[in-house]
Amino acid sequence: MTNNMFFIANWKMFGDIRSVNSTKKVIKFSKNKKYKRAQIIYCPPYTLLEKFSKITKKSKIKIGAQNCHYSQRPGPFTGSISANLIKSIGANYVIIGHSENRSFESDLIINKKIISALKENLKVIFCIGETYKEKKNNITFRVLKRQISTALKNIKKINNIIFAYEPRWAIGTGKLPNLAELNKNINYINNLISETKKKQTYKIIYGGSVNSENVSELLKIKDLKGFLIGSASLKSKNFIDIIKKSIN
Ligand code: PEP
Repeated sequence: MTNNMFFIANWKMFGDIRSVNSTKKVIKFSKNKKYKRAQIIYCPPYTLLEKFSKITKKSKIKIGAQNCHYSQRPGPFTGSISANLIKSIGANYVIIGHSENRSFESDLIINKKIISALKENLKVIFCIGETYKEKKNNITFRVLKRQISTALKNIKKINNIIFAYEPRWAIGTGKLPNLAELNKNINYINNLISETKKKQTYKIIYGGSVNSENVSELLKIKDLKGFLIGSASLKSKNFIDIIKKSIN
C-alpha cells in the first residue's frame, strides 16, 4: 500500500454533466494491472459528485469534494456543504485549504474543517504553500510551519491526511519551483510533521502546474507520493499521460 502513488484531479469550477462521460477512458485505464499502484481520485464540482460516484463505482477510482464547511452539525450555512453531506453522496476525500480558497479562510477555520472531515471518516487532502511574496521575502518555512501547526491542532491521528505542497504562485501559472527549492521545502515539511507526529504514516504530494511534460522531473523528488493536478486533469488523455510517466 505504501507504494501507491496518488493522482488527484482537481476540476475546480470546470466540467459539466456531459464531461463526466469523458472520464470513462480513465476508468478503463485504471483497470490496467500495470498501473495498479496508481490511486486516482477525482474532485469535481459538488454538483457532479453523485454522478462521479455512480460512474466510478465498479472501479478503484475514488471521489473527493473540493471543500467543506467546518460545522459538524447541520445548520444555517447557506450555500455550504458539510463533510457529512459529502460522505453521504459516496465521496471518500475532501480537499481542504486549497490556495484558491485560502484568502477567504483562516488557518483556524481550516483546522476545524479538517477535524470535521476526519470525524466523518473522510480522507483529507490538506493544501499548504507560500505566496510569491512570501517566497521572495524568504519566509516560506515560517509560513509552512504556521499552516501545518495550526491546521493540526487537536488532531492526534494524521494517517488519513495527505499533505499537498502547492506553492500558491505555481498554481495555474505554468511555473514550477526548481528541484533544489522543492527538495528543500518538501524536506522541511517532512521533518516538521514527523517531529510532531512521531512514527505516524502520512503522505506528501506536490501540486502546481503539473503536466505530462514536467512530471518526470518532479519524480526526482524523494518522498513524493503523488500529485494534485488541476488543468492537466481535465482532459483524460493528459491525465493518463501523467500517470503513465509516473509509474513504470
Ligand atoms: C490545483 O488546482 O490544485 C492545481 C495544482 O492546479 P494546476 O495544476 O492547474 O496548477
